[in-house]
Amino acid sequence: MDKPNASMVLVIEDDSQIRRFLHATLVDNDYRYLEAATAQEGLRLVATQHPDLIILDLGLPDLDGLEVTRRIREWSSTPIIVLSARNQERDKVDALDAGADDYLTKPFGTAELLARMRVATRHAIQITQGSDNPIFTTGGLRVDIAHRQVFVDETEIHLTPIEYKIMLVLVQHAGKVVTRKHLLHDVWGPAYEDEMHYLRVYMGQLRRKLESEPTRPRYLLTEPGVGYRLKVD
Ligand code: CA
Repeated sequence: MDKPNASMVLVIEDDSQIRRFLHATLVDNDYRYLEAATAQEGLRLVATQHPDLIILDLGLPDLDGLEVTRRIREWSSTPIIVLSARNQERDKVDALDAGADDYLTKPFGTAELLARMRVATRHAIQITQGSDNPIFTTGGLRVDIAHRQVFVDETEIHLTPIEYKIMLVLVQHAGKVVTRKHLLHDVWGPAYEDEMHYLRVYMGQLRRKLESEPTRPRYLLTEPGVGYRLKVD
């Protein structure tokens, strides 16, 4: 059955086994499916078919996924989830810094794939001034953006200005990975993008304030070698 309102997903991946898995999973879950086995064909389909989401392998035969991400981001803000192999840690972080929205490390399962896709296609939380009720909630954590207040299980938690800025960036990207460079840039400024220890110190402080077990966080998750992710329900 054709579903004209279903989201269209473009898969750019040279591995036919992974394409088959994605095809079966996406069609089963009511997505429309398009595929390309090369970067050139993928870029052509992005331009001509206007997919709602792009799943992009970082290791393509004709052009690497990082370069594909850069080219797409020159003119399109369509969400991109990159697929990376274990030995592509650096490429994955570079692709995220170049504008990819999230990543999956191979091998990945169906549940993880669908969760990432849902978050990537969801509209970002509105936190503009004047929007009527900008409150972010996940589990027992609540961020009241208009009043700059943070609550855990209804108890207000006092954050320093830097801690609050970190929370805001994570809330704006809730559910998605945020790279360390991205956080450092947005919270401290462009001159601080390499000051990884700042983040470690402040994330430790935030966890001690917000998490009942700071070493086993429920909200502020670490993505090793990449950055942080604010967990959503
Ligand atoms: Ca590949």
